[in-house]
Amino acid sequence: MKLLEDRILQEGQVRPGNILKVDCFLNHQLDVELLSKIGEEFYRIFKDDGINKILTIEASGIAIACMTAQYFKVPVVFAKKAKSKNIDGDVFTSKVQSFTYGKEYDITLAKKFLSPADKVLVLDDFLANGKAMKGLLDVCEQAGAQVGGIGICIEKGFQPGGAELRAAGYKLASLAIVDSMSDDGLTFRKQ
Ligand code: 5GP
Repeated sequence: MKLLEDRILQEGQVRPGNILKVDCFLNHQLDVELLSKIGEEFYRIFKDDGINKILTIEASGIAIACMTAQYFKVPVVFAKKAKSKNIDGDVFTSKVQSFTYGKEYDITLAKKFLSPADKVLVLDDFLANGKAMKGLLDVCEQAGAQVGGIGICIEKGFQPGGAELRAAGYKLASLAIVDSMSDDGLTFRKQ
């Protein structure tokens, strides 16, 4: 998506540890007009896939998911990172190794919000090693929900998450794939 690539080139900052900072427009300050165009693009790609729910992970995925849901007219549900009490066994949980913080954390999702009746579009801001996405896919599997597609704003193509998910047969659409990045600049994969 050229609009997103241009914005990454203009405002993205490469940080040590292979971190791309895009907090001016995507995951801290939010450019709602750009997010709306991102949502429209995900709709164009996945509109015929029978999606009836959008799943993401807090916090950065929520805005992207909500803007996308306006086009699909389906509910958004997000996995929580904070530990939530599981007294009644009423939540799905999965463990995720955090790329940005280097720690393992639990994600939780209330069982009442995901079931075998759901065909899910799973969205996130970044895909790197694929750990966050695999946690979300694990939750879908526990719920018996079908995964209709995976939508990512920025995939870091030099990390293995994207290739693994494609090899596993998922319909994965990344709106921008960064093939290399350094202090000198970024290159995008032609799609
Ligand atoms: P993964 O689990 O695929 O290794 O990493 C994806 C998660 O880590 C995303 O939810 C995202 O929040 C965060 N992440 C991974 N790489 C980057 C990055 O380069 N920049 C930012 N801002 N977040 C990242």
